[in-house]
Amino acid sequence: MEAHLVRALLADEGIESVIVNEMLQMAQGDFGLAPTVAPQVALLDLRDAERARCLVAEMVARARAEPSEQVAWVCASCGEENEASFELCWQCQAPRPGLAGEGADISAEVR
Ligand SMILES: [Zn+2]
Repeated sequence: MEAHLVRALLADEGIESVIVNEMLQMAQGDFGLAPTVAPQVALLDLRDAERARCLVAEMVARARAEPSEQVAWVCASCGEENEASFELCWQCQAPRPGLAGEGADISAEVR
């Protein structure tokens, strides 16, 4: 359950959240329906929203990145060094080289 992972991650950082839609999803299961409503994590304090977004983005990036990709890369356009989790150069938004191949549609990366 990804929502629970996210909630645990946020709790580690002292951000309180609740999971919504979970009961609804279970109710759908009771009726033999495939769940169509994904549980979502709702923050109790909206002031945490920005930090929570960053934490979740980091978690997703970590989960998606292969171990071999955990190295900083250098932008071919501007020469700026970027974190391994960045798929675009933070400086000039050029795509990370070697991921999708040159000229390849970026949507091909989405699995
Ligand atoms: Zn760049």
